[in-house]
Amino acid sequence: MGTEVFLPQSLPEFWDVHGSHPDAAIYHGGTDVLVRLKETGRTPPAYICLERIPELQAVQDCGETLFVGAGLTHAQILIEPNIATHWPLLPRAVAVLGSPPIRHTGTLGGNLGTASPAGDTLPPLYCLQAEVHVVSASGRRSLDIRDFILGPGHTALQPGELILGVQAPKAGDWGIPHFEKVGSRQAMTCSLASLAALIKIAPGGCIQDIRLAWGSLGPTVICSKAIHRKALGKPLNIQTLNSLADLIQEKISPIDDQRASIHYRRQLAQNLMLRLVSDY
Ligand SMILES: Cc1cc2nc3c(=O)[nH]c(=O)nc-3n(C[C@H](O)[C@H](O)[C@H](O)COP(=O)(O)OP(=O)(O)OC[C@H]3O[C@@H](n4cnc5c(N)ncnc54)[C@H](O)[C@@H]3O)c2cc1C
Repeated sequence: MGTEVFLPQSLPEFWDVHGSHPDAAIYHGGTDVLVRLKETGRTPPAYICLERIPELQAVQDCGETLFVGAGLTHAQILIEPNIATHWPLLPRAVAVLGSPPIRHTGTLGGNLGTASPAGDTLPPLYCLQAEVHVVSASGRRSLDIRDFILGPGHTALQPGELILGVQAPKAGDWGIPHFEKVGSRQAMTCSLASLAALIKIAPGGCIQDIRLAWGSLGPTVICSKAIHRKALGKPLNIQTLNSLADLIQEKISPIDDQRASIHYRRQLAQNLMLRLVSDY
């Protein structure tokens, strides 16, 4: 007999199924889980697919903040008007995630659940200062994304909990939303380094506020308060970016693995910083 696949139609139905099949593999789009299972040759005792749970599909304008359900696919994120208006940074990252079939299948919740250092939605969500809403049969809690992502493949999710969605302040008035990633080729590649940025420019032309988040450089997203502090009050020009790029040398210590050396990743991080000016 083949492995059973359950398709709960609501959160309560999910907990019923999960209660009787606690070791089932949980997936939404399956673009990470099913690929990983195939690679390891492991067959779980059952599968639970989240795609029919309407509670995961919500997009809610909450006044000062926006809530986006974990079940939105990357393709849905790209066409959702509230996201385009209030979090224009996120679609910039999602537009270069995988390929059209991956964007139509993979979800925001799956990208968070996988917690890959190369997860493209993570640096934008750090810049947006997102809270991850998590739900279980016994209630709901929310965590700062920095406390949710614990390391490669590790999150703060407890057994029986699902990611309901993310909530963050609206950031449509930050003049510059920027995302760029570098991989070993143009598309369908894991990034070796990525940079998400939100920059607010004061009327006089100087940097009033800035948030920078690098992906793929460490086990989790890297942000540097020292670099933020140095940028404040400076004009956004190549001289300022050069001085910030110099600080990367000191403040950012990337990982070294078979895909790229520390030196190469640091150089990428610096170059991504210099290219910020291209969005200004
Ligand atoms: C060819 C290819 C190219 C890719 N390119 C990229 C890329 O460029 N950038 C990138 O970031 N990623 C990329 N990916 C990875 C993947 O597509 C994304 O991470 C995607 O967002 C995963 O979403 P999913 O719904 O398919 O996740 P799934 O595989 O369904 O799930 C992933 C993990 O999240 C958990 N999960 C899913 N939803 C929930 C939820 N609501 N609550 C709790 N846990 C949940 C699952 O249990 C699992 O542990 C690529 C994958 C492939 C196969």
